[in-house]
Amino acid sequence: MIGIFGGTFDPIHYGHLRTALDVQQCLSLDEVRFIPCGEPPHRNKPVAEPLQRLAMVRAAIAGQKEFTVDDRELQREGPSYMVDTLTSLKHDLKTESLCLILGMDAFNGLEQWHQWQQIFELANIAVMKRPAETGQIEMNKNLMLQVKDRIVEVTDLQKKQNGGICFVSVTQLDISATMIRQQWQQGKDIHLFLPESVLTLIQQQNIY
Ligand code: ATP
Repeated sequence: MIGIFGGTFDPIHYGHLRTALDVQQCLSLDEVRFIPCGEPPHRNKPVAEPLQRLAMVRAAIAGQKEFTVDDRELQREGPSYMVDTLTSLKHDLKTESLCLILGMDAFNGLEQWHQWQQIFELANIAVMKRPAETGQIEMNKNLMLQVKDRIVEVTDLQKKQNGGICFVSVTQLDISATMIRQQWQQGKDIHLFLPESVLTLIQQQNIY
């Protein structure tokens, strides 16, 4: 099963990388594919250019053999709908099963996604949840009512081709791309939030 980790990655940071590794190991995923979003349908345009975000992801995952990057959303015109991305991946990867990796915040907004019910025909979903002691984001109750029959244990998700949902506990680091951009603008040190290779690109290309 291939994990699909979408995001703006503006910039990619250890919050993304660490959680991707946790999910990959927990679900024994063959691969985690990072897919930088071209035109986010539900949020502001990213600050860095698409090719800069792609280069930062490439640099961040270099040497991590289960991590790959896929630029198909950057090649497409118009809003980057996940249902289109999964359809195109399914077409290319044929029998391989897909598992969309989402933070609890993203999962809670699923009903607002374009053709969201269609996603269950194409992929499983792994929702990353914080360990209990660090505080939980409340689940969207209305969404839970609609998807409750899809929820399975982590060990059962591997057996499903698509349509299952499981919750995976991950090490959540209190890092966000917005916070990194703000700290960088204020001249603060950001090198503990992201790989050195990403920081080098930010400096060399004056990205933020
Ligand atoms: P921004 O601050 O601009 O909103 P972000 O840091 O949240 O950016 P995104 O690229 O939008 O990064 O995130 C992509 C995915 O990664 C989302 O599903 C989000 O929930 C998840 N994510 C982001 N930061 C973390 C983190 N620190 N720990 C776990 N998951 C995260």
